[in-house]
Amino acid sequence: MGKTYGETLTIKQDTVRKLLKGLPVSVLPIIPSPDSCYYRNKVHAAFGYNRGKVICGMYETSSHRICENEGCYLENQKAASIINTIKNLAQSFKLSIYDERRGIGVLRRVLVRTADETGQILVVIVIGDRNFPGKKNFIKALLDKHPEITSIVVNINIRKDSMILGNKSEVVYGRGYITDVLCGLKFRISPESFYQINRKQTEQLYSKAIELAELSPKDKVIDAYCGIGTIGMACSSACGSVTGVELNPHAVKDAINNAKANAVKNVRFVCGDAGEFMVQEASSGNKYDVVILDPPRAGTTPEFIKACQTLSPEKIVYVSCNPETLARDIPVFMKHGYIPNSAVPVDMFPWTDSIETICVLTRKGKTNG
Ligand code: SAH
Repeated sequence: MGKTYGETLTIKQDTVRKLLKGLPVSVLPIIPSPDSCYYRNKVHAAFGYNRGKVICGMYETSSHRICENEGCYLENQKAASIINTIKNLAQSFKLSIYDERRGIGVLRRVLVRTADETGQILVVIVIGDRNFPGKKNFIKALLDKHPEITSIVVNINIRKDSMILGNKSEVVYGRGYITDVLCGLKFRISPESFYQINRKQTEQLYSKAIELAELSPKDKVIDAYCGIGTIGMACSSACGSVTGVELNPHAVKDAINNAKANAVKNVRFVCGDAGEFMVQEASSGNKYDVVILDPPRAGTTPEFIKACQTLSPEKIVYVSCNPETLARDIPVFMKHGYIPNSAVPVDMFPWTDSIETICVLTRKGKTNG
């Protein structure tokens, strides 16, 4: 028997509760996603052959076998339809499909990003060869079928690993990025930058994180692992200044542009490792009032946490996309003078096993006011 959406939420809530058991944290009720279907604004597909016919879909778990599907309940439907058109065009244009084992062939992956609020659509065609035979006609045929596409990028990935994008990109149509609206601000998103995949739920996630940060107008805030600057810019009007730190240079470039486009003047962005930045700031004697961190699934590092103790923010808001690493990191924060107050699970990825959680930690002995 299939589960109801409500049942999946209960399971996620229990998972977080179990993982954080033994820690002095109260786990608040999970925030359901406004959309539980077709919420994924980023869709990618791999390509292959089955008996001479072009197929596309996701890879099966821990394998490179392509799982074709008749339609996915999680993916944006326009994006899925564009990917299907590309599959048919590849067949009719006799565009060769990249063979991972032999490292030859052209069409490798397609990535489609959609911006719900602006209607913009970016298509990234990843090829495994420096040449794209018949490119002009292929792109024209794609645009004829899908005039709703606002930009197309051809990315060359001749690497042997499983990274989706290679280092070289050519914008063949439109601007090469899309702009979406989040929390009333415009964000430009390049193909290489991270962007949350469930827009409506991201607004709830950020609002909750910012509410829990209890910002004051003079607060100096760090937005660590900031991506294109979304969280930092969303809280910039409620605090004194924000410093965003992010490793991916494409995302930092987007973040700087985003601050300009929204005329947000009290944010700055640093490109580098978040842990190293924290250590540097700590050794320069700088102080911050609030640290917001949103690391990848691997969580943060002991160096980052140790540096927090020296920077001594009153509050730390940990936005986690993996409750296992959150459960690992909370005790380290406790060792360095922070007490976890509450944890709020947020259902960012309905019908999958992934769980997002916001955990607020307060400095021990913090004086109120
Ligand atoms: N807060 C952003 C991005 C979260 S995803 C948002 O909500 O959209 C995590 C981000 O951490 C990614 O942009 C990734 O590029 C970045 N990242 C990964 N490792 C990092 C590191 N060691 N130092 C700084 N940023 C890192």
